[in-house]
Amino acid sequence: MSETIPSPQEFFGHEMGADRRLAPWDRIVEYFWLLDQSPKVKVEELGKSTEGNPFLLAVITSERNMGRLEELREISWRLAHPRGASREEIEDLVERGAAVVAMTMSIHATEVGGTQMAPELAWELATQPQYEEVLEKVVLLLFPCFNPDGQLMVVDFYEKYLGTEYEGCSPPWLYHKYCGHDNNRDAIHNNMVESQMVSRVLYREWSPQAYIDYHHMGSYGARFYIPPFANPVDDKVDPLVWTEQELYGGLTHVLLEAEGKTGVESNATYPGEFMPTFNYVPCWHNICGMLTESASAKLATPIYIHRHQLRPSRRGRPEYRTQMGFPHPWPGGWWRLRDIVEQQKISALATLRAAAAFKQQVLWNMYLKASNSIKKGLEEPPYAFVFKPDQHDPLTMLKLVRKLVEMGVEVKRSLKGFRAGGVDYPRGTYLVLASQHCRPYVVSLLKRTFYHLGPHSFRPDGTPITPYDLSTYTVAEFMGVRVHEVSKAFEGSFEDVAQVRLPRGRVSEAGEGGWLLDCRPNASFEAANRLLRKGVQVGRLREPLGELPAGSFHIPQAAGVEEELRRVARRCHVSFQPAPRGVESRPTRLLNIGVYQRYYGGNTDEGWTRWLLEQYRYRYRTVRDQQVLRSRLDRFDALVLPNDAKEFLLGEGLEDYFERRWGGGFTMPNYPEEYRSGFGQKGVERLKAYVEGGGTLICLGESSNFAIEELGLPIENVLKDLNPKEFTCPGSTLHVEVNKSHPLAWGVQEDLLVVFRNHPAFAVKPRVNNEDYQVVLSYPERHIMESGWLTGEKYLAGKAALVEAKMGGGRVVLYGFQPQMRAQTDATFKLFFNALTPPAMGETEWVL
Ligand SMILES: [Zn+2]
Repeated sequence: MSETIPSPQEFFGHEMGADRRLAPWDRIVEYFWLLDQSPKVKVEELGKSTEGNPFLLAVITSERNMGRLEELREISWRLAHPRGASREEIEDLVERGAAVVAMTMSIHATEVGGTQMAPELAWELATQPQYEEVLEKVVLLLFPCFNPDGQLMVVDFYEKYLGTEYEGCSPPWLYHKYCGHDNNRDAIHNNMVESQMVSRVLYREWSPQAYIDYHHMGSYGARFYIPPFANPVDDKVDPLVWTEQELYGGLTHVLLEAEGKTGVESNATYPGEFMPTFNYVPCWHNICGMLTESASAKLATPIYIHRHQLRPSRRGRPEYRTQMGFPHPWPGGWWRLRDIVEQQKISALATLRAAAAFKQQVLWNMYLKASNSIKKGLEEPPYAFVFKPDQHDPLTMLKLVRKLVEMGVEVKRSLKGFRAGGVDYPRGTYLVLASQHCRPYVVSLLKRTFYHLGPHSFRPDGTPITPYDLSTYTVAEFMGVRVHEVSKAFEGSFEDVAQVRLPRGRVSEAGEGGWLLDCRPNASFEAANRLLRKGVQVGRLREPLGELPAGSFHIPQAAGVEEELRRVARRCHVSFQPAPRGVESRPTRLLNIGVYQRYYGGNTDEGWTRWLLEQYRYRYRTVRDQQVLRSRLDRFDALVLPNDAKEFLLGEGLEDYFERRWGGGFTMPNYPEEYRSGFGQKGVERLKAYVEGGGTLICLGESSNFAIEELGLPIENVLKDLNPKEFTCPGSTLHVEVNKSHPLAWGVQEDLLVVFRNHPAFAVKPRVNNEDYQVVLSYPERHIMESGWLTGEKYLAGKAALVEAKMGGGRVVLYGFQPQMRAQTDATFKLFFNALTPPAMGETEWVL
């Protein structure tokens, strides 16, 4: 009985968003189960989060609709996938259907407003009669918290320091076990369980017409960003998506202003360009994907802001003054979480009201967008993307195909040989036809992309305005999967791929030398590690052998080994072949790996690195300052410094760094003393001694700058002093030349692309011992970029992208990119893995 459901204020003992009060997720879960008693609310636990907390979906609609929810879901799905439907059928569906709106709260756990607002929104919808009419026409899919683990961390940390000088400070570590803020960069790959649950509802079950998520931004701009996006916008997206943003955003803006909420901006700050995030990706699936961004308080602690501290936006709002899209500037003063909760609730209700008022239009639009997309794919190139059968790493290709299927992309497999774009393909070839509902998504991911450099990409003085995320997200390039873009119509006989089955791994009868395992598939490294963990001896070939590249794995025969190989072959889908007699290999072993972890909010690259190492079954330990400064480092065979600025590693010059990086948009939080990390000069000396004593220091991306500058290597970052007008490369795929004889490049494809985003590039300064500095990857002289944006190619030409530097008895490996970026750059994983799975040269010496 809905009348008996207590209001959030009654249940939690305070108004949602009250000063200094944050309801924790476990209590909010309890409250949602109370709401489940309402005939208008159906709560479902979709599964557990990464750390085992309940992950909820609350479906909210009228009682009548609740009784035919499955029918409404099918209608929504069918309108987004209208192939073969007649006009009459569509008209009937539009008449019978309800508009479906999905909302997710607080994917970024420090952006606390959404999850605090959700109980109040849900309660009002369930109990207040004025929403009955809206709920007759709308189904709300409400995810009250996208990141339960992080929510609990934030609340705990907030309460711990409440009433101290550190009150309002965010947690000093990642607010998700592995990916922290980057959980909103996982919307294509869905590596995290939370992502998998949301994507399944969006792309495999409901296909809602609108999606919106609730964020916070810095404290010194507008009070509230609402749709539509700013320029530039992607011309691949169906224009109806952008116009619908104006529809939802328009009513939202009117209602906010009418309720006295000032400082609201639209058409600013957040551009309509592809990003691998939950609010963006839907647009490329014809769903009107949106976000709102509230100005942050200090979590639940109010913040005071002076009028003169208020700032323009880098996009679309050049001054803090009345303009279209920003009609009513906020004058400064106190800013509190309750303000955030109220503005977000008004905007959520406005979105639902707009969807209800224009229910038939938005349903019809879904059909229009999908059929436009299907039609366009038949009438203009590209017509298809064919996965070449001769992949360097076929398992990684299948991984990509599977990820596409999981995101609702229609993937085909040829039933017979066919010819496309002048190339013959055999039976069983995978391909994606551009004629499908989510053509914009398919084209964005699979087609070579040149970032459009127009007037929205530069300030008046010519300084680049770089994209919010990367300038390309061509995932096939990131993963090293070779795709043929077909630009002429073709025919063939194809079946739908509903599920991607990976090949059965096989174990051949042992040769006289035991078995061999090709090191080209990334999965072979997982297989090798699984064997090593079982005590099986594994070696690496120093030279190529027949088809197999150098570095391939060698497993000598021994008692019980064949059984282990079978287990691993099944699990990793790799095949072991017979090794001839006299195979020359060097043993490898599971290294003791240390991964450096800092505070100051944590480092997403560190989290992804941990996740990746776990997936591939490496053995690692987290290393903090205390260990760097005091423990025996020589028990680690390799230490990994994840991508990071030197200031964070040292713990020096951070305030300047924040100022340089964010230009006053974000200030450095006041972290408690015990969470101010950085190993300082003493740590530098300890790391130096560690390397000179035989250790391996692995520097990913930006942390190479630290090694160059602090360890005294005769290497320079040639990009260091260039200004953005001279050199800009904000997330692009770049060609590199591979020194195939170097063990770090074992098993890596020749046509390799690296993902480069404001990283360093190296030159070795002339020294008498130049041979101690080995170049593993270098940039070609020209045509360096495959996709994205590269200004200043000449500065990269011929320079090194990966260098191994000898230092005393050890070595420093400098990556001028992140070989494991977001665990998404499969093409370059092996460059990292090779450093962690080296061949032995004697008992203690590990030389590459
Ligand atoms: Zn956010």
